[in-house]
Amino acid sequence: KAEGRGTVRFFEPEMDRKLQERERLVQDLRGALGRDEFVLHFQPYVSAEGGAVTGCEALIRWRHPVRGLVSPADFVPLAEEQGLIGPIGAWVIERACAEAARWEAGQRVSVNVSPLQFRDRSLPGTILEALTRSGLAPWRLEVEVTETVLIDDADAALDILRQIRAMGVRVALDDFGTGYSSLSYLRRFPFNKIKIDRSFVQDLTSRDDNRVIVRAIRDIAKGLGMTITAEGVETTEQAEQLRLTGCEELQGYLFSRPLAADQLGLGEAGPGRAA
Ligand code: C2E
Ligand code: MG
Ligand code: MG
Ligand code: MG
Repeated sequence: KAEGRGTVRFFEPEMDRKLQERERLVQDLRGALGRDEFVLHFQPYVSAEGGAVTGCEALIRWRHPVRGLVSPADFVPLAEEQGLIGPIGAWVIERACAEAARWEAGQRVSVNVSPLQFRDRSLPGTILEALTRSGLAPWRLEVEVTETVLIDDADAALDILRQIRAMGVRVALDDFGTGYSSLSYLRRFPFNKIKIDRSFVQDLTSRDDNRVIVRAIRDIAKGLGMTITAEGVETTEQAEQLRLTGCEELQGYLFSRPLAADQLGLGEAGPGRAA
């Protein structure tokens, strides 16, 4: 009996502590945008033939005053749940366009857009505003969405995606192969690019089945006029295999980790560049 009560006493403070900590994180998250605590890192894409940098993906981080650099996996879901992803997502688009406008060789910039940013109809307007303010050519911006965006309210999401494409902005399907019904989505929307998920790239050189899947994705993409990019490339063997398979673009730690804007080396030098 005494032991039972002891067990209860042991768990309650623990759960309490977890809840309190989460509550504090939510509080911090609410003020993070106003305190300018978010930062974008950029991870290059390279051409499979020749290795030139063709663009970069913008990846958000939260510079928390106590916790340090918080990964998006740890706060994006919380931001979505708390209804904060709209303004944070708009900030990402604004900053990514402003940064890319400085890149000398006209490389593209990709932004990840949460399915929840499709809930209201403000996304095309947010994008247009960011393009206008930065002067970035629309074709240099690419929006990355996952299949989940097309699950909830596919018709509304497709309508918004079409508006975005009509502006000349590119649309890419991220993490391809991890969701379901992928093929029907490909038929319903003309993506510019498909990003093959890291899970298929990982065992590419040791597993025949992954090689078969990557080839099949390539054939489908080619047939539909879409290009393919492989994410999470970590070894030269993977890169070579993907190049031979006809993958146009590669991305992964083999080429570069995500970097702070000033570490990228794509921007113009001189007074035009902010500190
Ligand atoms: P994602 O869009 O699929 O991004 C790829 C993730 O894989 C990134 O993690 C990247 O750093 C990591 N990665 C890249 N190359 C390699 C590699 O060679 N090996 C391994 N092991 N990992 C690699 P990150 O930056 O932590 O982002 C995680 C996810 O958070 C992203 O997945 C994306 O879904 C989400 N995310 C990031 N930034 C944003 C944002 O601004 N808005 C929204 N809504 N989501 C974001
Ligand atoms: Mg992405
Ligand atoms: Mg991805
Ligand atoms: Mg991924």
